[in-house]
Amino acid sequence: MQVALITVGDELLAGDTENTNATWLATRLTERGASVERVVVVPDDVDAISTEVSRLAATYDAVLVTGGVGPTHDDVTMDAVAAAFDRELAEHPDAIAYFEDHGSYEYADLTEGTTHLPAGARLLENSVGVAPGAVVENVYVLPGVPVEMQAMFDAVAEEFSGPGTHVEFVTVDAPESSLLSAVQDLRDRYDVTVGSYPGDEVRVKIQHEDPDIAHEAATWFEDRVQR
Ligand code: ATP
Ligand code: MG
Repeated sequence: MQVALITVGDELLAGDTENTNATWLATRLTERGASVERVVVVPDDVDAISTEVSRLAATYDAVLVTGGVGPTHDDVTMDAVAAAFDRELAEHPDAIAYFEDHGSYEYADLTEGTTHLPAGARLLENSVGVAPGAVVENVYVLPGVPVEMQAMFDAVAEEFSGPGTHVEFVTVDAPESSLLSAVQDLRDRYDVTVGSYPGDEVRVKIQHEDPDIAHEAATWFEDRVQR
């Protein structure tokens, strides 16, 4: 399953807020075997959000959007998702029922917005905060507040899966440039995905769907660089 993430917020683009939602979701999705193919950051702007939603929803199996679902002036994500699918943003019967059940309909009504979802959307309950999320076709709209986003994702996590890959790390205490031919030989010999991450030492990440192949490739590589 190929997934794209859209994180919404001027504060992310300005560097005021670290994009921990993207990192958290990427980790969780990868653990579940799904493959995260894109992470996009967009401003609190209806056109910018809807353009990315349309583009990525057409390209990937699922898109997760975080941020901009609250009742404040800069929360325009639901408008944008409705626009992307040519649907109306309207008072949603499930949202009204949800707020009535949770005894906060008055609040939702006062703040508008929160009972308005794209027509035909599946409502996602917000077990931590107020504003619900929504699923429209293959697009999941989650809150920006990390604890709310995490709880809402956990409730739908089972909808994300894939074969995943087995990962082996080999740490080498040598300059990255000295590993070029060994990495080339590794890739010629095994059908593995290789990442090379320099730091104090170089961490070489070797991945394959079959754990035996990943392990064999890592053992071969370790032996090759030690010679
Ligand atoms: P609210 O209902 O509180 O307005 P919201 O879903 O509209 O929530 P935002 O207004 O976009 O979310 O952001 C709320 C808070 O969550 C802000 O403090 C923001 O910095 C934080 N936040 C938003 N997006 C992210 C992100 N990608 N990573 C980490 N924190 C984020
Ligand atoms: Mg907000």
